[in-house]
Amino acid sequence: MPPRIVVLAGDGIGPEIVTATCRVMETALRRANAAVELVHKPIGLAALEQQGRTIPAETEAAIKSADGVLLGPLTTHVYDIFDPKTANPSAYLRRNFDLYANVRPARSRPGVPSVAKDVDLVVMRENTEGFYSDRNLLDGNGELRPDADTVLSVRVITRKACLRIARAGFELARARKGKRRVSLIHKANVLRRSDGLFLECCREVAREFPEIAVDDFHIDAAAMHLILKPAHFDVIVTTNMYGDILSDEAAGLAGGLGLAAGLNAGERLAMAQAVHGSAPDITGKGIANPSAEIMSAAMLLQWLAERRDDAALGCAGEAMQTAIDATLAQGKTLTPDLGGRASTAQFAAAVVEMLEGRG
Ligand code: ATP
Repeated sequence: MPPRIVVLAGDGIGPEIVTATCRVMETALRRANAAVELVHKPIGLAALEQQGRTIPAETEAAIKSADGVLLGPLTTHVYDIFDPKTANPSAYLRRNFDLYANVRPARSRPGVPSVAKDVDLVVMRENTEGFYSDRNLLDGNGELRPDADTVLSVRVITRKACLRIARAGFELARARKGKRRVSLIHKANVLRRSDGLFLECCREVAREFPEIAVDDFHIDAAAMHLILKPAHFDVIVTTNMYGDILSDEAAGLAGGLGLAAGLNAGERLAMAQAVHGSAPDITGKGIANPSAEIMSAAMLLQWLAERRDDAALGCAGEAMQTAIDATLAQGKTLTPDLGGRASTAQFAAAVVEMLEGRG
């Protein structure tokens, strides 16, 4: 049976870039002789309007029996996390399906104007705990307000989560065959217990990977080194909030949010999701860059390929990445965020032409 991917369009520019992504993915799959079943389900603000819930029961049930999810961006700040009917789907799905590894690559590319030319790294961000108050407790919320002028934020760091994100990072550094380096990012000089536990776990896992070089930086120093010497970094392993911030910084260095792809991976399920938000300022104009969503979908196909030992799926994913690179390098059809005048649909058509060898 072919793997089943649940497609969730999301808010804002979501439907525009997810439509473009499905078009590119269907072409890549056909040409690689690979099969995937795509099942479209409602999510987010559109689902709230139609069915009274941001995550309808039929959507959750479809995800439970699926192999992967393709999620469009969501207008995160409008969700009321205290009401289950208006839960933020991104946080809910990451937590409830235990999608613990948020894999966010950043790479500078020929043809794409960027602050730095030598970025080629992956941020491996822990995705289920840390400071994220809507997902780090079984019940209740990790932000407490004992009186009008006081707020306490609970940060959760567990041995289990640290060990598995460290293992995912080291395995990736081994598989990438790149600089073979893992950089551990923390603030253990101040957060001695929590980031101390994170470091202890990472060093324990590091002993299983003697061929991988290991270093570590405080988060503040890492933010600077990333700008001054981005080529140093290969795989960055870090906790939730540091990873969120560093991956946006790396995306900014390497050509902008429109190119920042991501995968949320668990043991059984993975969810493709671009790093950027729903871009309300350009919604409906048909000019959003779909590259990040397309490359996120490609990462999902490659993740499925490895787990199912399905070379054709892997070829489809790789072809999507290569076609995006080639379209960007050619520079003829670029969306406005990259200095061009093409629409989302025109960019997707150019990528499809590349895949079909007509580019
Ligand atoms: P949200 O509330 O959903 O987080 P936001 O505007 O705060 O939205 P982003 O959606 O990430 O955050 O957008 C930040 C900026 O980057 C905006 O100016 C947006 O138009 C731009 N942007 C984000 N994604 C894309 C994209 N795929 N193509 C073009 N521009 C984008």
